[in-house]
Amino acid sequence: MNTLCVLLSFQPVVDPDRPLGNRSVADWVSDALDQAAPGVPRKSLGPFLSCLDLVSALQSISEGFDELVLAVDDSPFLRIDVLHQMRALHREYRADYTFADGYPIGLTAEILRPSILPLLAGWAADKGGPVTRESLFQLLSVDINRFDIETQLSPVDLRSRRLSLTADSRRNRILLDRYLGEVSLDTKGFLDVLDVTADRSRTLPATLLVQITDGVRQIPIWSPLKQINPDALTRRNTLSRQRWNNLLDQALAWAGDLTVMPSFWGEPSLHPEILELMTDALAKPGLHLCLETSGLGWGKVDLDSLAARHPTNLDWIVELDSDVAETYQKLRGNGLEEAQAFTRRLIALFPSRVWPQTVRMGENENEMEAFHRHWKEEAGRVIIQKHNDFGGRLDRAKPSDLSPWKRHACWHLARDLAVFLDGTVVVCRDDFHRTQPLGNAWTEELSAVWDRGDRLFERHVKEDWPEVCRNCDEWYTFHF
Ligand code: SF4
Repeated sequence: MNTLCVLLSFQPVVDPDRPLGNRSVADWVSDALDQAAPGVPRKSLGPFLSCLDLVSALQSISEGFDELVLAVDDSPFLRIDVLHQMRALHREYRADYTFADGYPIGLTAEILRPSILPLLAGWAADKGGPVTRESLFQLLSVDINRFDIETQLSPVDLRSRRLSLTADSRRNRILLDRYLGEVSLDTKGFLDVLDVTADRSRTLPATLLVQITDGVRQIPIWSPLKQINPDALTRRNTLSRQRWNNLLDQALAWAGDLTVMPSFWGEPSLHPEILELMTDALAKPGLHLCLETSGLGWGKVDLDSLAARHPTNLDWIVELDSDVAETYQKLRGNGLEEAQAFTRRLIALFPSRVWPQTVRMGENENEMEAFHRHWKEEAGRVIIQKHNDFGGRLDRAKPSDLSPWKRHACWHLARDLAVFLDGTVVVCRDDFHRTQPLGNAWTEELSAVWDRGDRLFERHVKEDWPEVCRNCDEWYTFHF
């Protein structure tokens, strides 16, 4: 069996010169591969412009080899014994593709038979969106039954923890530092430690919600806005461009990378400088912008100029809730035609970056399949959002309950910060009555504000739910 080890790079390793323990991240990865595949030649590839670029690059180096071991260059905690087991599994069953399941990201590799690459190349040509470490598996999933696939199952199922022991962000580098003391345990022992140390997983925020206006154009029936801000339909207070930039600059300098959602209890199209705010934000390295909008009121905003710059760090969510005029009117009021036309305008300007969304409720339950089919065809993607009753502050309208059987610490508490117009920071969108304020973004360092959330997170880990969280069922959802 002729094997080639391929070291894939999807994005730069964060702080590559900062050692992890007494070695660089690159040395950790190299040492692990030396032991897992001694004497096996190695090539480095990436980053990649598209899925097709990834597959083509693999094809270009695989001639003469019948097994590719694919590891990612940001994974210092690669498990040598697991890689040995995966190679044995792959060979014993003559698999086309072998992957691991249930482990944290960064501990394992993928193994691929190069002869399947021409088939993947055909599918890759149609695949838009960013190229990530999941891209190969997603390509195989187009018609998974055509392949012989083997799975290396983790002895401890850590899927629900969504841990990423990788050096791809400052968040995850902190996590690596926190587990450095235990990484030399045997794999089962290490996984057991990961399993019982949820308290270490809050590192830095991944999503920053910012209220740039307190006005909206509609109040959908699933929204608690009437309780938060009864005059929202007429209010027009806005965040200054200077404050917006100061906040984002400070947050990025500290957290390194962030998804920013400027739709926090307000309609972004109502901000008179929305184009400038977006342009400023999109120019900041490490920032990903996601706008959630009703799709109304964008007529005079020159999005063509924005699209001409081909931003790859911008996503749109358009709240449609229904394609049926009668239902839309009942759920959201007037505006269906404008919202649909805007969605199509976005799809043309920002292909693969637009997510038509519906909140699944009793009122539109029968339309879900048609909505999904329609927008999947037009936009290539759809969000079916679960109904949120905001801890009982709205009537429950969830047609079914998909929550995990065991409650864990809330993802929003671990990953979000939300900033109101007046600078008040809370941990999530659901704390709209500001019962757990962490501080003020206009008068304090954001890092100090974030640190105050640690105490709340510790309570969650101990299953001691604060009042606002007690009946909330958003704990298993997350943004980015
Ligand atoms: S449980 Fe609900 S209210 Fe509590 S932090 Fe999570 S999302 Fe917010």
